[in-house]
Amino acid sequence: MTFINRRNLIRSTALAALPVWPVLSLNAQPRAPETAPQIVASFSILADMVREIAPPAIEVSALVGPDADAHVFQPTPTHGKRLAQAGLVVVNGLGYEGWIDRLVKVSGYRGQVVVASSGISPRQGGDHGTDPHAWQDLAQARRYVANLRDAIGQRWPQHEAELKERSAAYLERINGLDRQVREQLGAIPRSQRRVITSHDAFGYYAAAYGVDFLAPQGWTTHSEPSAAAVARLIRQIKQDGVRALFVENISDPRLIQRIAKEAGARVGGTLYSDALSAAGGPADSYLKLFEHNTRVLVAALSAPR
Ligand SMILES: [Zn+2]
Repeated sequence: MTFINRRNLIRSTALAALPVWPVLSLNAQPRAPETAPQIVASFSILADMVREIAPPAIEVSALVGPDADAHVFQPTPTHGKRLAQAGLVVVNGLGYEGWIDRLVKVSGYRGQVVVASSGISPRQGGDHGTDPHAWQDLAQARRYVANLRDAIGQRWPQHEAELKERSAAYLERINGLDRQVREQLGAIPRSQRRVITSHDAFGYYAAAYGVDFLAPQGWTTHSEPSAAAVARLIRQIKQDGVRALFVENISDPRLIQRIAKEAGARVGGTLYSDALSAAGGPADSYLKLFEHNTRVLVAALSAPR
C-alpha cells in the first residue's frame, strides 16, 4: 500500500514537473529538433568517452561532474529536468549509480538507459558485492566504447558512419595507451608494486597491470573505515614495505595523510579514481586520467626508498 502511494506520488510529481515537454521515446518519430540532441551521462569519465565517440552535433553532459563522488551523489529536480530533455541516457552500471532508477522514474525520461559496462565480467569479492570501477582497465574500456557506439547509432542512425569512424580512432588511442601503461609498469619489479589508496577503486587496474592496491575503504565511499581496518593497514604498510600512499580526487585526503604519518610512509600524489579533474587540470579526459595515474604510480614506485 505504501509502495503504491509512493509510486503515485512520484508519478504526479513527474507530471507536474513536465507539463509541456514532449517525452522522447524509442517509438516516437524523431521530429526536427529545435535544440541539439543531448546525451546525459551519469558521471564525468563516461561523459568524456561519449564525447570522443559522438559526433559534435550531439551535446554531451554529465550529472556528476569533475572531482565529485558518484557513490554519494544526491540528485536534485534540476538533474531530473536534464534527463527529461535527453535523447539518450548512459550509465556505468554494475550498481555504481544507486540513484539512477529513481531519478529516471521521477524525471519522466522514457528512452533507453544505456549501460556502458554491459557484457563485461565484473570483479566480485567477499562481502563487497560487485566492483563497479571497470573503467580502470583500458581493455574493459574497449567494451564501453563498443556499447556506446552501438547505442548512439541505434538512437541516431543518421550518424552511424561518423560514429564508426570516431570510435575506431578512439579505440586505437586506447590500445596505444594500454601498451604504454604495461611497458612503464613492467619496468618496475613486481614485488615493488604495492600502494595504498583511499577507497578500493583500482581492482581492475590492479588485475590488468599487476599493481597491488590496499585501501581502508571498500568499493563504495558510503562508510568510514573502522579503526581496526586502519590499524591493520598500518601494520601491513610496515610489514610489506608498501612504497607509497595516494590520495584520491574524490575523497577527503586526511585519512590517508594520517595513515602515512603513523606508518612512516610517503604520500605519492593524487590518483583520479571516479571522476575527472576540472578542465585544464591534469586529468580532464579519460585517457589523460589514465596517463596521469600511471605516471604518478610509476614515479612513486621507482623512487629510491
Ligand atoms: Zn568508487
